[in-house]
Amino acid sequence: MRTLPINFLRQINIRYLRLFIVLFLSSITAKINVGSPSIVSDPDILSSLKIINLDGHFNFHDVHHAAKDFGNRYKFLPYAILYPKSVSDISTTIKHVFQMGLRSKLTIAARGHGHSLQGQAQAHEGIVINMESLQGLDMEIHTGKASYVDVSGGELWINVLHRTLKYGLAPKSWTDYLHLTVGGTLSNAGISGQASSHGPQVSNVHQLEIVTGKGDVVNCSANHNVDLFYGVLGGLGQFGIITQARISLEPAPKMVKWIRVLYSDFTTFTKDQEMLISMEKAFDYIEGFIIINRTGLLNNWRLTFSPQHPLQASQFKSDGKTLYCLEITKNFNPDETKIINQEVKSLLSQLAYIPSTLFISEVPYLEFLDRVHASEMRLRSKGLWEVPHPWLNLLIPRTKIHGFTKEVIGNILSDNSNGPILIYPLNKSKWDNKVSVVTPGEDVFYLVAFLSSAVPCSSGSDSLGHILAQNKRILDFCENASIGMKQYLPHYTTQEEWKAHFGPRWEAFVQRKSAYDPLAILAPGQRIFHRQYASHDADLTSIS
Ligand code: FAD
Repeated sequence: MRTLPINFLRQINIRYLRLFIVLFLSSITAKINVGSPSIVSDPDILSSLKIINLDGHFNFHDVHHAAKDFGNRYKFLPYAILYPKSVSDISTTIKHVFQMGLRSKLTIAARGHGHSLQGQAQAHEGIVINMESLQGLDMEIHTGKASYVDVSGGELWINVLHRTLKYGLAPKSWTDYLHLTVGGTLSNAGISGQASSHGPQVSNVHQLEIVTGKGDVVNCSANHNVDLFYGVLGGLGQFGIITQARISLEPAPKMVKWIRVLYSDFTTFTKDQEMLISMEKAFDYIEGFIIINRTGLLNNWRLTFSPQHPLQASQFKSDGKTLYCLEITKNFNPDETKIINQEVKSLLSQLAYIPSTLFISEVPYLEFLDRVHASEMRLRSKGLWEVPHPWLNLLIPRTKIHGFTKEVIGNILSDNSNGPILIYPLNKSKWDNKVSVVTPGEDVFYLVAFLSSAVPCSSGSDSLGHILAQNKRILDFCENASIGMKQYLPHYTTQEEWKAHFGPRWEAFVQRKSAYDPLAILAPGQRIFHRQYASHDADLTSIS
């Protein structure tokens, strides 16, 4: 029999894979609970996993916790959890699945700390890689002028902070909550109040080690394997698994001056926020939040902050009003207290907040950065942490923020909210536009985060159904009023929606997928590229 030349076979193979991706893309529909053959029905494929030679191990039995996340709404049971002890364990496993080709149907999800909201780190009848098993490997700090730390992708940011502080150093850009993994936040963006000066976390990475969807271990940076580097940053886990990251560091301050002030006028509030983010050396952290119909607000602040005008503060009434809180910090070391006090005074004098609402606190840098963990402990003790979290995170262009807020606060949320609503502007100039994160088309845009918690078994305005309906109204308004909004931590179920999300960048995203994960093995929970079109999607079971 005549044999076909290898090149010809390769060409057919590549064409076939491209076609395969296109087929997946064109067949994405979200259906729930439609019966389909089980992916675990092929015993040969599954037993082949049991004989892979690993430093770590698979667990095929105790897998339920990997079907859960912070959102507490989606539950996709995996077939197995890999607890890797080396990067090679991850590479060997992915290679094994890749080499089985399409007949295996297995998908693979990296799970960081599982703090996704909608099943993004889950793999229905697939393999979940428990990235935290790699913690502790290779956390190496390089001091000197351009200091950095090499960390495992499964490391928690809080651990990175503890370790780097021992050298008087710290990463520059954070998230509000530090019990998240390096790989998990770099796959999204990593945004907090420091982003106005340093950009998001994805703008503060020098180098990555990635295991691609073919199982190759690849080092990449802004100069080397550039496409993979920028693709993975904010790439929703689609192109590879981040096994190591080199994070930029700066000298860590000892203390933080933490300031809150209130506004009753939204225009004045945003004007001040935008002025602050446009200044080179104003505050080190600039955020804000909306307060709807809260009583005794300033009294609660007294647990952490001191009022600068105690008598006036005690007479201030927050009841029934919508207020806007500007939250800012200034880092300092104790020997600079005098000069920092002067700087802060001068900066505050340029702002138009309600004078009686100036509250200031001085806390260690670590305590400020880890502030949400204190709230977590309080909520856990009351059983309020593991409830459904139907969060909605939006990026709104600056020119649309007034119309957006008027409609959402005035009409959709009316007089209550079910959790904090963050609102603060970000400078696009601090974002590297080559990364995969999609942002609105203006130079300044706002992060607006509705961080709602639902009360289980409630049928009132704090129920999951009610909050989801409100979220839908907000999204519908954005669509109908052409707000030009982009979702942060995006979640969509159809190809049309993903295409609209990526806009002109969709084609490049698809090409990267076909280059680095041609069989669409990785990050199935994001539901962008589906490995088993009809059958897989039909098996996704949402408990929302
Ligand atoms: P997971 O939920 O485990 O994974 C998230 C996604 O990344 C999944 O698709 C997963 O497959 C993929 N992934 C995980 N690890 C890797 C890896 N090593 N390589 C490749 N892909 C990987 N975000 C902000 O930007 N700013 C905030 O201030 C902020 N605050 C938050 C506060 C709380 C309480 C919570 C619950 C979330 C917050 N987030 C914030 C969102 C958070 O950044 C994301 O949910 C993040 O994905 C969670 O990290 P994780 O380690 O739990 O990742």
